[in-house]
Order: sequence, then C-alpha cells, then structure tokens
Amino acid sequence: MMMHEPLHFIGLRGTLTRNAPLARYTSWRAGGPADTLYVPADRDDLAMFLRQLPVAEPLLVLGLGSNTLVRDGGVRGTVVIMHNPGAALAVADGLVYADAGAASPKLARFAALHGCAEAEFLAGVPGTVGGALAMNAGCYGGETWRHVARVEVATREGRFVVRGPDDYVIGYRSVRLRAAGSPDGTLPDDIFTAAWFRFPVGDSSAARARIRELLARRIATQPLSLPNAGSVFRNPPGDHAARLIEACGLKGHAIGGARVSEKHANFIVNPGGKAKAADIEALIAFVRATVLAKTGVELEPEVRIVGEPTP
Ligand SMILES: Cc1cc2nc3c(=O)[nH]c(=O)nc-3n(C[C@H](O)[C@H](O)[C@H](O)COP(=O)(O)OP(=O)(O)OC[C@H]3O[C@@H](n4cnc5c(N)ncnc54)[C@H](O)[C@@H]3O)c2cc1C
Repeated sequence: MMMHEPLHFIGLRGTLTRNAPLARYTSWRAGGPADTLYVPADRDDLAMFLRQLPVAEPLLVLGLGSNTLVRDGGVRGTVVIMHNPGAALAVADGLVYADAGAASPKLARFAALHGCAEAEFLAGVPGTVGGALAMNAGCYGGETWRHVARVEVATREGRFVVRGPDDYVIGYRSVRLRAAGSPDGTLPDDIFTAAWFRFPVGDSSAARARIRELLARRIATQPLSLPNAGSVFRNPPGDHAARLIEACGLKGHAIGGARVSEKHANFIVNPGGKAKAADIEALIAFVRATVLAKTGVELEPEVRIVGEPTP
C-alpha cells in the first residue's frame, strides 16, 4: 500500500489529527481511520484549510455521521468534520439562519421557540444542518429543501458561494447541483457552510408540543438506545422498506455484531459497539438479496458507504 504523505498547513485554528479513528464520528460507532482528520474552528478557518489542501487530496465531509457507514479500512485522504456544538443560529429578515455545523434538532427547537412552524420534523433527525441539506432529510411529511431560501457553500478551493434552491435538483433524499455543462450535475466537493430557511409563522407552544409528540413517537418505534444510522434503505415507490424486510422474516437477523432491529426492520443496530463495518455492510447486502429474491423489489441503500474494505 502506498504511504500517505503527511500534509502541512499554516495558520489554522481548528484541530488536525493524523490516522484518526472515525468510529466515534459515526452514529454506527464502526469504521476505520482517516489518514487526516480536520475539525475546523469556524467557516473562515475551513476556507483557510481548503485553500491549502492540495487539489489531488481526496476529501470527504461528515456532519454527525448519522447516515454514513465508514468501512473498516478507513478513508484514504482527508475527512473534514463539520459538526460544531458552538454553531450559530439566528433570526433575521424573517429567515432562520443556521451554520451547517449546527445539529438539526437544535434548529428545530430554535425555530419553534421563535414562532416558526414546520421545522418540527428536524427534531428527530440526529444529524447536522449540512447533512440535512446534503440528504434532503425528511420525515412525518416534512422535507429540508421545502424551506430553504438560500445556502452558502465553500468550494474545494476555499471560496464562498451563495446559491438558491433553483441551483439544485432536489429529490427524495437526493440533492444535485444543476451545474451547466455537467450531465449529472454533481459537484461532490462543495461543502454546505450555512443555510437560510423560510418557515411559515406558527405558534411557539404548538410547535414545541409537536416536537415532544414526534420524539415520543420515535422513542416508541425506533431502537434509539443502540448505535444505528436510521433507515438503511430508501422506501421504494408506494411501499415501505421496513414492511418488506419484516415480511421476509429478517427482524433480528444478525451477521457478526450487526443485527436487523427487532423494533424497526429498516434499522440495523450495533449493540455494544461490537460490529465491524464489514458485518453491517454484509447484513445490508444480505437483506437486499433476500428482499429481492422473495419479493422482486430491489431496495436501494439510503445510507452512504465510504472508505476502504478491511485491510
Ligand atoms: C436514529 C436516526 C433517525 C433518523 N431519522 C431520519 C429521518 O427521519 N429522516 C431522514 O431524512 N434521515 C434520518 N436519519 C439519517 C440522518 O440523520 C440524516 O440523513 C441526516 O441529515 C444526516 O446528517 P449528518 O450530519 O449526520 O450527515 P453525515 O452522515 O455526516 O453525512 C451524510 C452525507 O452528507 C454529506 N454531508 C454532510 N455534511 C455536509 C456538508 N456540510 N456539506 C456537504 N455535504 C455534507 C456527507 O458527505 C454524506 O454524503 C436518521 C438517523 C438516525 C441515526
């Protein structure tokens, strides 16, 4: 295997770590190390980092890693962690501003406190605002991009650009840049750094009550006490992945330390944090193959799988 040359930077205020285990940065609590891990201090520090990052260096962004499986061999190149507990939230000109590193549940509570409606669904999505933008996260009838007025991104070269929703092709758990001249429109290295949301005016106490109600519903139906990454598969048109997986008798099926949740069949849990990423990936493949063989439906993963297989 080729050795990864250590990168050198100057003037940074964030935290740079070499050979950094990523399991603690993902909600599945599994996966190998990143060659280089950078946690920027803020958006200007991120830009400073990007301006010095060699163009050939592979770059992966993570928020709270709640929709990501990092393979056991880890990630060659650099991983930037956008989650920032000190991220800003604000109200200005009738819009709610959020740094991309803010946790989505915090945005939901902030919007509710400020008399906004329809942000409540984000209370149960345990990722960052940046992750919600990248995934077009949604549930209970709500969807992130329905409320986006504009976003700010940092380009791979460390330049800030403000874009509107019309610059993107938005779908079910999918967001692509509508870039001229690019057939699939993807610009994978852009990093969301902030967003401005336009939520309808609502009643603060009603919004807070709805958040409590939605969280209670989640606690009743999802295995939240065990490491997981939410829904593993996208719902096929007109059906639910969980229904198909349960109908195939897969609840409780385990490979190594990974198990299909008994509580919600579209969740794979990692009790005790013992599973290898390879166990989780093998279980994903097994569920997919079984559902295809028994029902003819090809489930597509919603979780993003990154990194190198077991060394
Ligand atoms: C218990 C549980 C319940 C969940 N329920 C839901 C649900 O109801 N609805 C739903 O949609 N999802 C749900 N999820 C999945 C997940 O929380 C969402 O997809 C969330 O938006 C991911 O955010 P993150 O910061 O954790 O993203 P990560 O997992 O860190 O990243 C996900 C993807 O987004 C990209 N990304 C992250 N941040 C940025 C950024 N700043 N700029 C550019 N790209 C970025 C990453 O490169 C990666 O491709 C659930 C997960 C869990 C664990």
